[in-house]
Amino acid sequence: MHEFGIAEELAVLVDRTLTENHGAKVLKVVVEAGAGAIEEVSLRAAFEEAARGGAMDGAELVIETAPREFHCFDCGTVFPEKEGRISACPVCGGSNIISAPNHDVILKSVEIEG
Ligand SMILES: [Zn+2]
Repeated sequence: MHEFGIAEELAVLVDRTLTENHGAKVLKVVVEAGAGAIEEVSLRAAFEEAARGGAMDGAELVIETAPREFHCFDCGTVFPEKEGRISACPVCGGSNIISAPNHDVILKSVEIEG
């Protein structure tokens, strides 16, 4: 499963942050997921699995969802999806727009107990 790989990567990153800050325990982990990139339920389950027995065990996982973004080929602007359909660039009015690739999950912040 996709989410387990992500959770393992997160665990490594969080562990590194903890070591760098000489912390003892992780209280909270905030991540940002690209729109539609992951299944939240699966990520939570995978996170718990990856955290078990480690410094991350019992930490709160906060998942923020990034808005879908579009990229304009005419002027290079990247803009977030708004309500309704997007058919033209809000900056130059061009119609050569594509949905920008979504990132998977990125670690935003870690709260640790020293
Ligand atoms: Zn444009």
